[in-house]
Amino acid sequence: MTTLVMKFGGAALGTSAGLAQVLAIIADELENWDQLLVVVSALDGVTDSLLDAAHFARIDHPRGYRRIAANLRTRHLALIDQLPLDRPDRNTLQADIDQLISGLLDDCLAIANNLNEELSPIHSDTVVAVGERLSARIIAALLRQNNIRGVAVDGADVLITDDVHGNANPEIVPTAQRVNSVLMPILQRDMIPVVTGFIGATADGVTTTLGRGGTDFTASVLSALIGADELWIWTDVDGIMSADPRQQRQARVIPRLSYNEAADIAYFGARILHARMIAPLAEAHLPLRVKNIFAPAQSGTLVASGEGDAIPVLKAVTSIQGLSLRRPTSGSLAGVTRLVGNTLFKTLGMRSEVLIASQSANSSFICLVIPTSIGIDGVDRLQRALQAKMAEYPEKMPWEIDRVSLVTAIGGGLHQAPRLMSRVLEQMDGIEIFGMALGASNCSVTVALADKDSREAVTRIHDLIIKSDSDSA
Ligand code: ASP
Ligand code: MG
Repeated sequence: MTTLVMKFGGAALGTSAGLAQVLAIIADELENWDQLLVVVSALDGVTDSLLDAAHFARIDHPRGYRRIAANLRTRHLALIDQLPLDRPDRNTLQADIDQLISGLLDDCLAIANNLNEELSPIHSDTVVAVGERLSARIIAALLRQNNIRGVAVDGADVLITDDVHGNANPEIVPTAQRVNSVLMPILQRDMIPVVTGFIGATADGVTTTLGRGGTDFTASVLSALIGADELWIWTDVDGIMSADPRQQRQARVIPRLSYNEAADIAYFGARILHARMIAPLAEAHLPLRVKNIFAPAQSGTLVASGEGDAIPVLKAVTSIQGLSLRRPTSGSLAGVTRLVGNTLFKTLGMRSEVLIASQSANSSFICLVIPTSIGIDGVDRLQRALQAKMAEYPEKMPWEIDRVSLVTAIGGGLHQAPRLMSRVLEQMDGIEIFGMALGASNCSVTVALADKDSREAVTRIHDLIIKSDSDSA
């Protein structure tokens, strides 16, 4: 029995051309595997709009969230108009969409009136989850219309999580039970579950979400639990790249990565994969492929364990924004890290990590990585919260809070290859390095530097990657 899980991201689903590709890919792979399971994101941009709607609800601005709901309705109806559906199917789907949109308006109203405790300000997950609920129904209908037996499945019925709203973590034991009772029967009847990614529910049934980009995480957890042979992530780029292609014109697809390398690439800034998705795959030794829906014949990137993992080689460079706390005079970090940790958790309602803490004779330095799941204004929010917190504890001052960039060079075996490591650092010639850390998984080195130097540092490390590629070719 062979089983493939395929995840389709928002960029792949946004247009009728994309959907035609999705359909063709599913039909093709149906021939090659005994069982298929599909996991889908919301259409491109929909989650952002829903987050805005939740925000308008919180500030009790009905015109704002009504406008968003109306736009979402129009967009989804326009999309299904372009699909080859017959009348009864189209009518059912329209009714489903209308029902989801009216539920969205009810939830926004409940947040605005603070009527429903479950929808308190940080619990806007029910609103945000509508995006995936809409897209899963559309894909399932499209499959059925083409004589493929697709069934939309709500992730909240399968994925049981803790109650960290906005960044929840799946709980494996109850989720495994749901997988057995909800998903396995569908697979055994030769049907294709089309599962909403990104959303889950607490044991009490309150909707949660797994953090931005969380559909990847849903796909990896479910792949491991159903014992899939492979997971393929379909997107609109050719695979995982050696650097952000918008910044580095020479960026190229990386054909193969180890699990650790892929996790570090995701963790340190590339948004192509959800950072926490790799662990379940690594544990199950389950290969992951990242492929382009518009070029399905290309092999994309394969993430798996393999022979060559110990050979030191540089594969990618990433950059991510962070904040630093610097104490110009010497002093202890004790107490401050706890203060920072509490502020992170309380203000942003999330898990976070202090990535680099270093102390030298005349200054102390803490550097924080901000998970992208908290949104683009996250760094600002955190900076304000920290400033306020520090002001409450003048005895622990003076700390200067600044923005920094973390630039990370990633490649297996880097830590055992001092010469390679020193070549990376040589590239930083003339750039001030505030702090440095080796990744826990043996395959990355991160430097903290001023925002203004980040682009240059990335370019120089990327040049080194390109050069060592051509040296070894
Ligand atoms: N739709 C969600 C987001 O935009 C989840 C995902 O796309 O994976 O973050
Ligand atoms: Mg994504």
